[in-house]
Amino acid sequence: MEWHTVAGVLSRLGVDTSGCRPSPKKQVMISCPLAPWFHKGDEDTRPSLSVRYGLTPVRWKCFACGEHGKLYELVESFATLAEDADLRTFAGQLMESDVLTLRQEFEERDEAMATWTFDREPVPMLSPEALDPFPSVWHVPQALNYLRDRRVTRAAINAFGLRWDDYKERILFPVTRADGGVVGAVGRIVWPDHELPYFNYFGFESGQWLGGLANLTDRRRLLVVEGFFDLLRVWPWAQELGADVVCSWTSRLSPTHKEFLTGADKTVWIWYDGDTAGNTGWTEAHDLEPRTYGLRRCQLPEGVDPGSLKRSQFENLYKKMEERHE
Ligand SMILES: [Zn+2]
Repeated sequence: MEWHTVAGVLSRLGVDTSGCRPSPKKQVMISCPLAPWFHKGDEDTRPSLSVRYGLTPVRWKCFACGEHGKLYELVESFATLAEDADLRTFAGQLMESDVLTLRQEFEERDEAMATWTFDREPVPMLSPEALDPFPSVWHVPQALNYLRDRRVTRAAINAFGLRWDDYKERILFPVTRADGGVVGAVGRIVWPDHELPYFNYFGFESGQWLGGLANLTDRRRLLVVEGFFDLLRVWPWAQELGADVVCSWTSRLSPTHKEFLTGADKTVWIWYDGDTAGNTGWTEAHDLEPRTYGLRRCQLPEGVDPGSLKRSQFENLYKKMEERHE
């Protein structure tokens, strides 16, 4: 949404937006209009509320009172909280307004989740020919044998478009944007006990992007696992149980990873390995503003990683989490 549209909505609710200008990051700070209800003082002089109007739907968050949500929900707050009856009525009408398409925006939420829009520039795509030197694993018996041993399903091979690097003898996992554009690749060697089993292609760095974004749906839960083999393993089962899966390559979430996960509008379940690194990763994940979407950890038994789970074990752990948290 353009800033002038958002400012129009806010000013009709009596919010002063006169000092605010559109920014390249499509984010502006305003005084929190919910201050009379949620702040200690009646006024927010800082200003503390960030509006990210480049997102679909538009989102806001107040760093003073912690209230947050979509633009529609801010208007809704006025419709219920305002002391002035006229203002309440007006906010109610505004919510129904076709002109501002707020209702529509709210209903398009699920669609927005699937496209996963952020207020950041997408990482540059590689040229469409970048993966041409690497054939599909379907043509390479050596690769297929390895994938069969790791119990990766045909569906997962196809969904993530696995390829083969004959020179380095690695299985390639293309790293994609949500729109399918390739931004890099991570390769896993097929020999056991290799010192450096993983190799990043095309200058890709693991902190730049999550793995598996092109296969996101509007499922309400999102599992975050460490490696792409964990992802390949649990993805088919998770889909059936109502969850998408992404991998963060290691048990450390980078600021970019965190930004993505915060914008995901899903319940995020961290499924890191049950080891020291997994525990550290989980501790660090905590500053991910749990209120935004709900953040949970699946505590795996010591020494267990999602890639080594049997289907029944995965389902048991998943259902336990569901019972505990939903
Ligand atoms: Zn506030």
